[in-house]
Amino acid sequence: MKTLYRKFINATLLILGISIMIAFVLANWVYMTSTRERIDQQNVKIAEEVASSLEQMHSTTHLSFKAYLDSISKVGYQIYVLSENGEEFFFGEDFSKKNLPDEAMKVIDGKEVYHGMDNSHSPWMMMSHFSNELDNTVGVPFTIDDQDYGLYLRPNNKMLFSDVHVIFAWFFVAISIVSISGVIWFAKHLIQPITKLTEATREITRENFNFPLNIHRKDEIGQLAESFSIMQTQLQHNDEARKSFINNVSHDFQSPLMNIQGYAELLKTQELDEEHQEYVEIIDQESKRLSNLTKQLLLLTSLDQKSYPMKLSVTRIDTQIKETVRRHQWRLEEKEIEISYHLPPAPILADPELLMTVWDNLLTNAIKYNQTGGSIYIQINLSEQYTIITFKDTGIGMNEKQASKVFERFYRVDAARKKDGTGLGLSIVKHIIELHNGNIEVESEIQSGTTFTLKLPIEKQLEE
Ligand code: ADP
Repeated sequence: MKTLYRKFINATLLILGISIMIAFVLANWVYMTSTRERIDQQNVKIAEEVASSLEQMHSTTHLSFKAYLDSISKVGYQIYVLSENGEEFFFGEDFSKKNLPDEAMKVIDGKEVYHGMDNSHSPWMMMSHFSNELDNTVGVPFTIDDQDYGLYLRPNNKMLFSDVHVIFAWFFVAISIVSISGVIWFAKHLIQPITKLTEATREITRENFNFPLNIHRKDEIGQLAESFSIMQTQLQHNDEARKSFINNVSHDFQSPLMNIQGYAELLKTQELDEEHQEYVEIIDQESKRLSNLTKQLLLLTSLDQKSYPMKLSVTRIDTQIKETVRRHQWRLEEKEIEISYHLPPAPILADPELLMTVWDNLLTNAIKYNQTGGSIYIQINLSEQYTIITFKDTGIGMNEKQASKVFERFYRVDAARKKDGTGLGLSIVKHIIELHNGNIEVESEIQSGTTFTLKLPIEKQLEE
């Protein structure tokens, strides 16, 4: 994943790269349009002064020009002298290439000035300014003892990179280092609260509304954090209100439903015609379903409380499952479902009442959504850290999308199945398993069957 932090730094480096390129193009343009000509004229002037000094010195003292040019080269010039007889003399640092174009000969033949800087064909003319080649010189004529000479000269690169330039180069390096580190620090500072907000959002999906943000800023992110905190409080308030509403309603439903059920039972014992008998049956079934629903809602809301009082004790899962199977024996027989299991002793530290609800729900579903004459297989596997429990049935199954939603509250696959379900059973199961730090997964195939796999951690103290 490309993080915002990395994107920020990449963008900064890209901007830095682009600005260096633009600055280079601009500097090149300035060099081409004005600087180059100015420097060329400056160099020609120096060369002419050197040449005229040479001529004067020779006419008065008859001194050889070599000593003088040698001393000029030491001030920071590369000098080449060519006589009309073809004699060559070099002074100062060596040229990397020592060939001159034909037009440079015009200095001796026609007494013309040679402008070597015009010769470069590089698109980055600015860089060719530093080329240490003989053709990158200015040439002027001079005459000594009726002999014509050409004096070709360029400032050497060491002179071009003066101390000021070195200081500027370090200045530039320091600015780059400081600004890149600054951007890295700033990006971190900017992105940290966003990461925190993302974490807080994730916590909200887990119904934790108390994730501390600790963002105290005055900018837009600070405002976002402030609005987020207000939203957290509001959501917590709504959640509590919703749970207490469900709790109250469920409680208030229970007693009238018990009455309805009682009267329906009573009516069933009366001599009634077939039609009325059917009505009473429906009243009885529906009131049982409603009563079941309110009980499940009550259980869910109490499980939702932040600190559900779990009554932990050593619980034998294998015994509990066998007991559940025994209690559903008549339903299994009624549907001609064959049940088999492999249940080795599996003690864990758990809330026995809650776990009983899990086995009850899973087995009820495996029977309810099974085919007549189908089968159910339950097994326990013990690994080093987990007790793994599997409920496998050969029932009507579900497709992938349906299976991914079964743990949602009130989710029921389709209308055809809605005979006596509430859509709450599996969400309760998942909740209980998570309270025990375990997890539950489902695998299912339409018309082929469903497998629920539960993983419950084995507590350390039990192993000892
Ligand atoms: P319900 O009270 O409707 O059974 P559950 O939460 O227990 O609610 O299950 C949710 C839905 O998942 C059910 O309505 C059913 O369609 C589907 N389901 C659950 N268990 C099975 C199973 N063993 N085989 C096929 N479908 C199942």
